[in-house]
Amino acid sequence: MADKMKIVAITGDHEASVLEADLPVPGRGQIRMRVEGCALCTFEQRMFTGVVPVPLPFIGGHEVAGRIDAIGEGLKPEDYPIGKRIAARTFYSCGHCYGCRHDEGNLCTNGSEQDKSWMAYPGIGGLEQYMLINPDMVFFMDDGLPLEKACFAEPLACVLNSIEKGRIEIGDDVVVIGGGIMGQLHVMCAKVQGARVIMSEPDEARRELARELGADVVIDPTACDAVETVKELTGGDGAAVVFNTTAVSAVAQQAIGMVAKLGRVIMYSSQHPDEPIEVSPNWLHNSEAVITGAVSPSLRSFRRSCDALSKGIIDPGKLVSGVFGIDDCQKAFEAAIRPDTFRCIIKL
Ligand SMILES: [Zn+2]
Ligand SMILES: [Zn+2]
Repeated sequence: MADKMKIVAITGDHEASVLEADLPVPGRGQIRMRVEGCALCTFEQRMFTGVVPVPLPFIGGHEVAGRIDAIGEGLKPEDYPIGKRIAARTFYSCGHCYGCRHDEGNLCTNGSEQDKSWMAYPGIGGLEQYMLINPDMVFFMDDGLPLEKACFAEPLACVLNSIEKGRIEIGDDVVVIGGGIMGQLHVMCAKVQGARVIMSEPDEARRELARELGADVVIDPTACDAVETVKELTGGDGAAVVFNTTAVSAVAQQAIGMVAKLGRVIMYSSQHPDEPIEVSPNWLHNSEAVITGAVSPSLRSFRRSCDALSKGIIDPGKLVSGVFGIDDCQKAFEAAIRPDTFRCIIKL
């Protein structure tokens, strides 16, 4: 009889349960990861609340950290030492599509090719005590890094992909719109890159946190005209870089209004609903501004995220809102969907 492991699955509307499954055995070239912790991202929250319908039971979990537990044939133990602290990039890159062949694996269109035959139920697999991963998904982290911080490898990697597109230079004015977890991570990263950081966020507690994390100026867009305020703060020029981390189209429109000539606007978050916004071709012509997006972590940004966390360059400790045991998974999901929490982590 196969050994068993515990998994956390979404089993109903607003319902998470602990189930059991066979312990997966690593095949040739595969690594078994002992998942020690998994943070509950918006993705998992949308499935828990039924906003995104999924086949049940469903196993979410992509913000994972743990240790190498076993390796399959063909891999050398010196390359993948048992017990080594790792994070896994669960986003699949096929290696042969248009995005992958441009070295941008986050733009891969063939995610469905990923082999999930070892999973008992559909999903990603990070909310299982053990998952099978390929060597290209493994990212080493410092063995002493606390588990809660290691769980930020994936979300910080998403943000670093965005930060890269902002091409921040020392002295730049950078606006971060939205003080949720992704906005707060943008604040920390932009600060490290030498920017004056302006955070626009209606909630006072989130503005206060942004200040603690390094924001130089915080503005309340419900109490002022955010575009005008940014213009005033920047001597009429606008900001060199604007990151929009909110899902609101009207705010995406504001982001474009705030940017300086030659500036960059990065649409970081997905939009719900996805209402079109207006952009003047003549304004683009005359300003040479760039409007772009950032989606998922690249291989590059994942590596840098693990380094930044391991070296303490980015410390996400203030963004941990709760750590829950596996048997408290229902409580963890309920806490995660509250608007006043950032990241809730399940210890597996
Ligand atoms: Zn995530
Ligand atoms: Zn691909």
